[in-house]
Amino acid sequence: MGGAPHLVNTFAMTIATIVCPVHGESSFVYVCKHLAENPAQEWCCGYPNVESPWRDAWCAACHKVFEREGGWNDMNEGEIEIDVLCGHCYEDGIAQSVNCMDDPIRTEWAEYRGSLHNAPWAKRGAMNEVFGLMNCPVWDCYQRSAQLVFTHGDHLQIVADIEFVGTLSTASNTWTWSWADFNLLEAVRSRIGAVRDFGERRGFPRLTVPKWDADWEDAWDMTLIAVDVLGGMGGFSIKTDSGIHHMVVMSVQHRK
Ligand SMILES: [Zn+2]
Ligand SMILES: [Zn+2]
Repeated sequence: MGGAPHLVNTFAMTIATIVCPVHGESSFVYVCKHLAENPAQEWCCGYPNVESPWRDAWCAACHKVFEREGGWNDMNEGEIEIDVLCGHCYEDGIAQSVNCMDDPIRTEWAEYRGSLHNAPWAKRGAMNEVFGLMNCPVWDCYQRSAQLVFTHGDHLQIVADIEFVGTLSTASNTWTWSWADFNLLEAVRSRIGAVRDFGERRGFPRLTVPKWDADWEDAWDMTLIAVDVLGGMGGFSIKTDSGIHHMVVMSVQHRK
């Protein structure tokens, strides 16, 4: 991929760490004791940012106490029991919340996910013809300009405007949304927040949890959802050392 500068998370060196019995020395996060005891429930927390990949989290019951006072303060702090989790345990924990939906939402989610498969752009390889992949072009991905460029011979270039959706790690079998992947340049993930907003409105946790256990089918379905929400032309994926990057093709131009 076109030379993305690798961002180093310096925070890990400046804050205290704990020693997790499973993961060893690690940064830690505060969570309510209910989440620590039973992570397979809704997690109420902010979204990751470059300084804090793991945000303090509490359960839906504790969230009622939070909302009553409009935040944590002297009036309600005594009502939440706090625990700490190592960052890796936190990721494993919040990942377990993706299946926590009540029955009507579960049905809506299944119907929505299934409905996308009927779209003409949903067929795997639908973009291959557009890009002329049968003719073995040379291609490159430029994160800085959010473009995927296919060069056919000396003249024709096919330039695709792209948005990164997320990455399927084949090493850990996990899906990470591009909005939570701070190794990617801002230019290739400036629009994906709309998919997360959509997930928040509809109550679909797979669209709002940063990272979860996934296979190639999950990854492709998340890509189709992003095509639908962002109004793209189709989905496409490229493989690099860090996994399979899925993207939405927003538009395509031919350059002679
Ligand atoms: Zn709680
Ligand atoms: Zn741990």
